[in-house]
Amino acid sequence: MESDVSPDKYLPHIDRRRCTLCGRCLEACPTQALEETAEAVVLARPESCTLCTICELSCPHNAISLPFMVVFAPSQRTPHLQAPRRHPKTLSSKGGSQ
Ligand code: SF4
Ligand code: SF4
Repeated sequence: MESDVSPDKYLPHIDRRRCTLCGRCLEACPTQALEETAEAVVLARPESCTLCTICELSCPHNAISLPFMVVFAPSQRTPHLQAPRRHPKTLSSKGGSQ
């Protein structure tokens, strides 16, 4: 079964108005997916893009961004920070005689 979510929607987006052609993303991209034009950097080889986000991190003008956020699942080894709740009756003194 084919996915109905296009992988293109996750590719880097370049805001041409912000791009100053400084070239940092071009140097940083490990797969040479980006290319410089007369006006701005463009994603010339989208098939080479690995969605690594390095270009986004390297841009000093926030001109290039990837439209997703990486979220790490909580580690299985993370200790529970919240103490288990107890029923109020289990906390009260039983009193009485034995
Ligand atoms: S996300 Fe990574 S591979 Fe894709 S264009 Fe940016 S730096 Fe290159
Ligand atoms: S790092 Fe940003 S401003 Fe510089 S060329 Fe790339 S997109 Fe343009």
